[in-house]
Amino acid sequence: MIPRLLNVEYRPAWQSILAQAVKSTDELLRLLEIDPASPGILPLARDFPLRVPRGFISRMAKGDINDPLLRQVLPLQDEMQGSNGYLPDPLDEQHSMQAPGLLQKYKGRALLTTTGACAVHCRYCFRRNFPYNEANPATDNWEQTINWIKQNPDIKEIILSGGDPLSLTDSRLQTLSDRLGDLPHLHTLRIHTRLPIVLPERIDDGFLSWVGSQKQHIVMVVHCNHPHEIDDSVSKAVIRLKHAGVTLLNQSVLLRGINDTAATLIRLSETLFSAGILPYYLHQLDRVQGAAHFEVSDTTAIGLMEEVRAALPGYLVPRLVRELPGEPGKTELPGRNS
Ligand SMILES: *Cc1c(COP(=O)(O)O)cnc(C)c1O
Ligand code: SF4
Repeated sequence: MIPRLLNVEYRPAWQSILAQAVKSTDELLRLLEIDPASPGILPLARDFPLRVPRGFISRMAKGDINDPLLRQVLPLQDEMQGSNGYLPDPLDEQHSMQAPGLLQKYKGRALLTTTGACAVHCRYCFRRNFPYNEANPATDNWEQTINWIKQNPDIKEIILSGGDPLSLTDSRLQTLSDRLGDLPHLHTLRIHTRLPIVLPERIDDGFLSWVGSQKQHIVMVVHCNHPHEIDDSVSKAVIRLKHAGVTLLNQSVLLRGINDTAATLIRLSETLFSAGILPYYLHQLDRVQGAAHFEVSDTTAIGLMEEVRAALPGYLVPRLVRELPGEPGKTELPGRNS
């Protein structure tokens, strides 16, 4: 048979791998040899459906419903419980918007939500209820956003966030960076992304050549919560990013039952460092509806950080922070007055 190559549009491998992500709880549990009828599972999560790339599943332990990677993606009935103070938009982000998709809460930096798509759906995500479709410049044009940045020369850094900005194709990234590259006051392009962790295939030749052609310094803040998330495929992607000159940092979320022991947090910092990534933030959970069962109290969190600080060099200790609506920066714990 003659392959019909000429009729096939070129599609990078990572997009096919992304398209093959598991989207059903039943399939996920069968792959892990766990009974789908186990108590506590939410079989159908309509508003925020299950989504997890197969490579990430391969890092989970078979037969363990409490696996720390599985717990991050498995819909539970606990999500349906209402909880006091847990809101659909806990950070009031819809009111910090300056232009479509552009949030400025901090001096010198503005955050651009580029797309609603994520390769993985994290159950604790504060954006699980965020109306991406109304606030997504990727679907129309960047004009208004670029103009706003142009008129605000004190902005030195643009943070691409999402969803996940690396779920944009290279050509969409190029379109955006072409426009940003023209702004002389922009020094840094920061990318907040979970893809190098959950879908390291994204860091391919095409993406690395995009990185190499950027005028701005590229900082990548990946999102990894547990040492088991880093395997060989992730380490290899990170090495390639480092060779391309990218500065790599990590942010985690402190999650009950997943990484809420000092031993796990210490191992996480050490594993990140071996891979070439420095710990940056450890976030206290945002109080988003459906995530209350992941909460770790501030007292516990502060105690954990004391143990971490005692065990590790200072550069491997992430900053414990919480985001509060209306505050000019992330709030570090313990607070100034405690
Ligand atoms: C976290 C965040 C930033 C960046 O803050 P840094 O302290 O520079 O990491 C910027 N904008 C928004 C909206 C953020 O949530
Ligand atoms: S990858 Fe990030 S933005 Fe996407 S669901 Fe997970 S935490 Fe939320």
